[in-house]
Amino acid sequence: QKAEWAKLVDEKTVTAEGRHVELAANIGTPKDLEGVANNGGEGIGLYRTEFLYMGRTELPSEDEQFESYKAVLEGMKDKPVVVRTLDIGGDKELPYLNLPEEMNPFLGFRAIRLCLEQTDLFRTQLRALLRASSYGNLKIMFPMISTLGEFREAKSLLLKVKDELAHEGIEVSDSIEIGIMVEIPSTAVMADQFAKEVDFFSIGTNDLIQYTMAADRMNERVSYLYQPYNPAILRLIKMVIDASHKEGKWTGMCGEMAGDEIAIPILLGLGLDEFSMSATSILPARTQIKQLSDDKMKTLAEHVLTLSTNEEVIEAVKKEINL
Ligand code: PEP
Ligand code: MG
Repeated sequence: QKAEWAKLVDEKTVTAEGRHVELAANIGTPKDLEGVANNGGEGIGLYRTEFLYMGRTELPSEDEQFESYKAVLEGMKDKPVVVRTLDIGGDKELPYLNLPEEMNPFLGFRAIRLCLEQTDLFRTQLRALLRASSYGNLKIMFPMISTLGEFREAKSLLLKVKDELAHEGIEVSDSIEIGIMVEIPSTAVMADQFAKEVDFFSIGTNDLIQYTMAADRMNERVSYLYQPYNPAILRLIKMVIDASHKEGKWTGMCGEMAGDEIAIPILLGLGLDEFSMSATSILPARTQIKQLSDDKMKTLAEHVLTLSTNEEVIEAVKKEINL
């Protein structure tokens, strides 16, 4: 099987009818690029920049960040690279920020919430990103967006920083897409409105499932409620994809679900444009997608959306694709 997969490294990902979907990789550092190349990644769908900030005693400088972002953009040539701005908090702590302990860290002061308050920290990252933008195909993504107000504030800060750099005579790409993670139910529900203002969505199912089912993704005692195929989750995903397409935008997915063999047929049927996963999942996913028919997956997706439970959906998918 490994030999079969290896043959697909340089191929594009197409369905049985020949529709192209993008299979991208999730990475945490520039060192991960080798794995992306070896596994035929068509882009980076999620660069988790928090690893630059972790395991150290002070914030990374603008230049240090610039070097990392530039390395990833150059390494990917002109393939798309979605860089997520700092997503700290929840299970990921930064002791040197001296943030007070919280009762519910996953519902607390994290990610974009922190960045919009600690704007010096955020501006430094945005400067580094914009400076690196002329070295490749950069897309910037904000994490944990729960309101349009947050998106507008983050975008306006980004545009301000861009202006500043222009005044300093620093070259910045003028084709940077600005998008958001959809990982909070309020944002999925309001996707039609977000779609008018963002350039793209990337669905973060790791958190979207946790917040929709109110089941801590780290807590084993409630893991039975962590149900990726629950029609509640699938309906939210459909709303997001449909909303983006209506406005001519694209939707990706960068949660674990994007590389899952039960989820992939449904997501194809729902029209997901980009699947971002750990590099080692890319070739198995490409192999699977080549065998799947868009038409049949569309019918399957319509059918599973009418079902009532996680288990029923799993059974229906297995039956359709002979798993
Ligand atoms: C997600 O929430 O699905 C996601 C991709 O982000 P993280 O796992 O880093 O929270
Ligand atoms: Mg997340």
